[in-house]
Amino acid sequence: MNSPHNCLFCRIVAGQLPSRKVYEDDEMLAFHDIHPKAPVHFLLIPKVHVDSLADCGPGEGAVLAKMMLKVPELARAAGCGNGFRTVINTGPDGGQEVYHLHLHVLGGPRGQWKVPLP
Ligand code: 5GP
Ligand code: ZN
Repeated sequence: MNSPHNCLFCRIVAGQLPSRKVYEDDEMLAFHDIHPKAPVHFLLIPKVHVDSLADCGPGEGAVLAKMMLKVPELARAAGCGNGFRTVINTGPDGGQEVYHLHLHVLGGPRGQWKVPLP
């Protein structure tokens, strides 16, 4: 596992790096992606460091469930009333670049999305 001290998203959680926050509670943080691929593109992460979905076990079950249930609420609040996409890239072949589990939420008019998608 990454040391949280070297982890970009842990540093965002700790306030050591800036982010444009969408939502925060005790267990999770959502912030806008720095290189948006759609008119709405934010990331939802657990505050506790876990490298990827492949590293999750029963101990992460509760926070994962809370994150999934939070997505529609945050997407609606961001203006995605017509739908949205959720993506979790996992591991090298999954295209994961940042090894702190994160869930992409993308939305907005389809014609304005960039390719390749996350
Ligand atoms: P992955 O490919 O790991 O699923 O996605 C990582 C995402 O994190 C990318 O969409 C990338 O644009 C975003 N990202 C990388 N560094 C930063 C950063 O410092 N701040 C923010 N807000 N997003 C970042
Ligand atoms: Zn981390």
